Amino acid sequence: MSNIRAIRGMNDILPDETPSWQALEQSVRSLLSSYGYGEIRLPIVERTELFKRSIGEVTDIVEKEMYTFDDRNAESLTLRPEGTAGCVRAVIQQGLLGTPQRLWYSGPMFRYERPQKGRQRQFHQIGVEAFGIASPDIDAELILLTARLWRSLGLADSVELELNTIGNSASRQAYREALVAYLQQREEQLDEDSQRRLHSNPLRILDSKNPATQALLNDAPALSDYLDDESKQDFSSLCGFLDAAGLSYRVNPRLVRGLDYYNKTVFEWVTDRLGAQGTVCAGGRYDGLVEQLGGKATPGIGFAMGMERLVLLLSEVAQSQPASSAADIYVVAAGDEATRVALAAVEPLRDALPKHRIVQHLGGGSFKSQLKKADKSGAELALIWGDDEVLAGNCTVKFLRTAGDQHTVAVAELAAFVSAALA
Ligand code: ATP
Ligand code: MG
Repeated sequence: MSNIRAIRGMNDILPDETPSWQALEQSVRSLLSSYGYGEIRLPIVERTELFKRSIGEVTDIVEKEMYTFDDRNAESLTLRPEGTAGCVRAVIQQGLLGTPQRLWYSGPMFRYERPQKGRQRQFHQIGVEAFGIASPDIDAELILLTARLWRSLGLADSVELELNTIGNSASRQAYREALVAYLQQREEQLDEDSQRRLHSNPLRILDSKNPATQALLNDAPALSDYLDDESKQDFSSLCGFLDAAGLSYRVNPRLVRGLDYYNKTVFEWVTDRLGAQGTVCAGGRYDGLVEQLGGKATPGIGFAMGMERLVLLLSEVAQSQPASSAADIYVVAAGDEATRVALAAVEPLRDALPKHRIVQHLGGGSFKSQLKKADKSGAELALIWGDDEVLAGNCTVKFLRTAGDQHTVAVAELAAFVSAALA
């Protein structure tokens, strides 16, 4: 009998991979909690109607990517292709919209796409949504929060922020007509995908990867000329907030999103290190969605990050960096007496520096061989005890990454000295 295999594009995540997932999830979780966002856990299956009404009937997702089936009661259900629709459904249903809400969720999403690097049929997102705040300060908060996340993950140099405003629905409607009129006259010059989109979702043509299509767009009407005043104003406030915070970004006037519910701010964090699947985090404002799904009109904004792509990016970045260190502090002690004193002195140091990795050399050996190990460990500091230090109640602190730098520190002062040195 042949073996049963997993469904294409739905991957097992194995024990040697889960540590990087867990570390990433932990960083995101603690960051979100530090900004006051609360976790909401949502069903994986929702009524098909929910996605049709929110994402839009003529989007790629709804037209051809959803896993839809009838349950035993002949009700049409769908494995969620994204998280915002379910989250909005939940906040309406649970009556959470009386006050502003800052929420996040995580879990698998399902889209019937062509599997490739960074693109699966079951993939995982952490999504963040904020309800009830119409002003663009919340747009700034969400973006600054993601920027902080990249810094904490060591990804700040690998990702770039792209930003745009797509206006309100009236300005988009007017623009859509102008764009279609322009492109219809040049229909035969469009790539096949864009020809199809011309009659279904023309704004998506703006982010076509086809060079000929992009060239054609150079002379096309520009969305920025059709924007309503409020959207323009909010966008300039948002840019001002980001400038004040020192965050750099690129305004990409062709950035649109593949889901119908967005308005005003849209943004993506992109990397050039993952090939074609370069967007690791994407989102925007969706002020009309709550009302569209039957709730009382409430502004909303959110984003989702693709966990597979972030895990891939983290491993790309890790590979291009020197191997990570095994220790922050390496303790060297020559002789029985020095070992005894060092062991006792290091315990309070561990209390004072619970986040630092302090590795004590054990099993004896000469100063020279121990210092070699200290260097190899990648530690920043060596704490050294020999007979002289024991007699004087001191420790010698050697900075291993800056040549020759060495200090004599009283054991009682050690914790303060070391924590200042490693800060
Ligand atoms: P793309 O343009 O790459 O298809 P998207 O615009 O369809 O992305 P969103 O719906 O905005 O993506 O989802 C947010 C994020 O989720 C994406 O930026 C990406 O990181 C991730 N993502 C989306 N689809 C997939 C997928 N099929 N496999 C892996 N990650 C995905
Ligand atoms: Mg997509």
